[in-house]
Amino acid sequence: MTVLKNCRLLPSLTEGYDQPTGDIIIEGKHIQRICPPGTAPTDSGTTIDVKGATVLPGFFDLHAHLMFANQDYNASVLRSQNEYMLDSMEYARVYLKHGYTTIRDCGNDFYVGVSIKNAIERGIIQGARIITSGKIISPIAKGNKSFGTLYEEVDRPEDMMRVCRNEVVHGVDFIKYMITGAVLNESGEPGEMVTTPAEIQAIVEAADSLHTYVAAHCHGTEGIKQAIIHGVRTIEHASYLDDECIELLVKHGCRSSLVPTLSIAFSLFNHFFEGTILPEFMEKAKDACEHVIEGMKMADAAGITIGWGTDFDRENFEKYVGLEFTSRAKTGLPNEAILRQATINSAKIVGLEEKLGTVKCGKYADLAVVDGKPDEDLTVMKKLPLYVLKEGVLVAGTALQQEKSYE
Ligand SMILES: [Zn+2]
Repeated sequence: MTVLKNCRLLPSLTEGYDQPTGDIIIEGKHIQRICPPGTAPTDSGTTIDVKGATVLPGFFDLHAHLMFANQDYNASVLRSQNEYMLDSMEYARVYLKHGYTTIRDCGNDFYVGVSIKNAIERGIIQGARIITSGKIISPIAKGNKSFGTLYEEVDRPEDMMRVCRNEVVHGVDFIKYMITGAVLNESGEPGEMVTTPAEIQAIVEAADSLHTYVAAHCHGTEGIKQAIIHGVRTIEHASYLDDECIELLVKHGCRSSLVPTLSIAFSLFNHFFEGTILPEFMEKAKDACEHVIEGMKMADAAGITIGWGTDFDRENFEKYVGLEFTSRAKTGLPNEAILRQATINSAKIVGLEEKLGTVKCGKYADLAVVDGKPDEDLTVMKKLPLYVLKEGVLVAGTALQQEKSYE
């Protein structure tokens, strides 16, 4: 048994307990009980006094790429397959340190996402819980080759079934598909479709028949509309939303969700990678970034579920702690709404809301203990969490370095 004492709890992220402070009792992998402060038994197991720090559910990154080690794409491609795997394993572990206990990898080569997911589930290595795609399925396009063999190119509706079956045979959880051009791709026009409606329909039907779904890279307005019409499950990046997109989302019963990725957009917008990427990438990002903020406000006002993505690389994820939180603060949405995007909203999008996404008795004890009050000030997210638990196990935390009594 593990007890977290003196927790500060947020009403919008806690279920079945309505007081602002409490003790959390963890038994095995799950939260067994939440009770008023000072009332949890502390005579057996491990007790951690979090001293009024805010206890949040573990975060989700629905748009991760474990293999992105830095923004140097050439060096990335030149790695051996073994190094590629090791770098990806390292990133899965780094996520824990940042309070992320579940990530969805939106494209990796050699099916390393599947291998790492299995290794984590077997307990061989430590890392965030993984939901993974395999290769990035795309029409033939010029920039694809600069990513080595990451892209699987396919151009006819009748070939979608074969490609999806191949992915599923390799053990992926979902299919990643390119509907529009990309920011970080030579000759890619984020606003323009690179595929046809018939191809989108075919890949969605193929994925559906294999009991999986399509997550589509989709910046441009027309691409977003086609994605919604044909039932793409998650619209990644979702940069250029307009009123008609919002209406379509609502009309189709919100079967499609949005996964904006502000970390990458903001770091490009603010020239964090100047000198290491092509100047044209920054220009494209600037425009996309300005639109995505407006789009998120519109979507939120219409009650559409907005999930959490970063699309970031390990080096910059480590360097700019909490960037996704501070970037989303620019939308002007309430902090608690932003915190819900990172947790329960994202859990719902991937169908894990019964097990994860809030602090609730019976759910997995995936928790990030944050120093400060993120509901009042999101800049506290620039500090790594004091403690991180995944399925009841203390896996990371800055407080662990100072205090040794928690073994
Ligand atoms: Zn991506």
